[in-house]
Amino acid sequence: MGTEAKKLKEELFTKKESGWLSISEEEKIKIFDFSKDYMNFMNKSKTERETLKNIKSILDKNGFKDLNTLNNINSGDKVYYINRNKSIFISIIGKEPLENGLNLIGGHLDSPRLDLKPNPLYEENGFAYLKTHYYGGIKKYQWTAIPLAIHGAIVKTNGEVINIELGEKEDDPIFTITDLLPHLAVDQMNKKMSEAIDGEDLNILIGSIPYDKKASDSLKLNILNILNQKYDIKESDFNSSEIEIVPAFRARSLGFDESMVAAYGQDDKVCCYSALRAILDINNPSKTAVCLLVDKEEIGSMGNTGMASKTFDYFISELLNKKNENYFNMLEKVYNNSKMLSADVDAGFDPIYKSVSDTTNAAFIGRGVVINKYTGSRGKSGASDANAEYMAYIRNILEKNEIKYQVAELGKVDLGGGGTIAYILADKGIEVVDVGIGVLSMHAPYEVTSKFDIYSAYKFYNKFYKC
Ligand code: MN
Ligand code: MN
Repeated sequence: MGTEAKKLKEELFTKKESGWLSISEEEKIKIFDFSKDYMNFMNKSKTERETLKNIKSILDKNGFKDLNTLNNINSGDKVYYINRNKSIFISIIGKEPLENGLNLIGGHLDSPRLDLKPNPLYEENGFAYLKTHYYGGIKKYQWTAIPLAIHGAIVKTNGEVINIELGEKEDDPIFTITDLLPHLAVDQMNKKMSEAIDGEDLNILIGSIPYDKKASDSLKLNILNILNQKYDIKESDFNSSEIEIVPAFRARSLGFDESMVAAYGQDDKVCCYSALRAILDINNPSKTAVCLLVDKEEIGSMGNTGMASKTFDYFISELLNKKNENYFNMLEKVYNNSKMLSADVDAGFDPIYKSVSDTTNAAFIGRGVVINKYTGSRGKSGASDANAEYMAYIRNILEKNEIKYQVAELGKVDLGGGGTIAYILADKGIEVVDVGIGVLSMHAPYEVTSKFDIYSAYKFYNKFYKC
């Protein structure tokens, strides 16, 4: 290529190269340190409730106050509102009045997993099991023959909450779902992957010692006796519980170069953590900053802890009330002047499965934050398509701050699709676009991200709040 063409190309083409090529040694240390904190956070945060507990303790240490305990708020105040222990809204009150609009970033705390059925315990032919009902979009075969942990809460009729976490510590027992040996799997192996493991067969193996010789249901009795002694519960207490079966894997650095993170539940806790750190690192912003971390995205954002719940409107109304700025239609006005980043992961390009991606429009791990102008499926159906003007606003912040980004689509047209919480906020009149982190093996028990992208997201979210 001639030098002129080379120069012209340099000037006109979108640069598509690894982010690792353009960082200093100092920056690399920051990236690795950030990911270390993130992995520590992930190891304590496998369920929504646990994640929320950890977020609350981080917020309490950083001077944030529960909004319910305050009668008045002023600019500079740092507050949070916890919704039923499963979602949280965090805010730093800006110098400008709320009616000028908010800068919002939102992610989801829930991840695909196996939930226990309301009546989970049974025994069969010498084994005791717990029945499950999967939560979110999983490939069922991925959940067999791996170590599993039990996390959750049992609420007794007197209101007492018993928290369970078993399978994470080195000397804890773990649990598993057995799979068929290849020697006898001829029929199973000839099935379609989606049918190889039946939803009703995702039963957790939990014991094999009978209570005694005489009792019927002797294995079930032995397990209930153990649970009764350990947690003071009986069988019917499962009826009022939320118990999640999650992979017992710890978050780890991945690769000889340790450039990636492997962990369960990175969709979407990787964006939640980056957004949380971003709001911790701002002081006295002009616009009021809001970080919303919600439940139930993986099953459609429904329920009173999901994004579609009116509880979020209530939170913003309470900010208006307590800042003495509320009047008729004020909430709608605030929304119409607000800007938001929907912080969710995107499918990273995987060379092993390249046929599902349009490489020109795919998100690549390690090339910076991923912007999805729209999501949806089959002709953008269900998407909140961001306005070009807003895309330009976002690009401007990224380019001014030299933060690497890529604009991508989730896979090839008509191959499938997905959605995020973006459209729910767009419905309120807020400018919103998806900006997140690329993931390999999304929704699998062990997901992969790039440390470079995680830090890039944190940097961008932080700059966005400062606008
Ligand atoms: Mn997600
Ligand atoms: Mn997801």
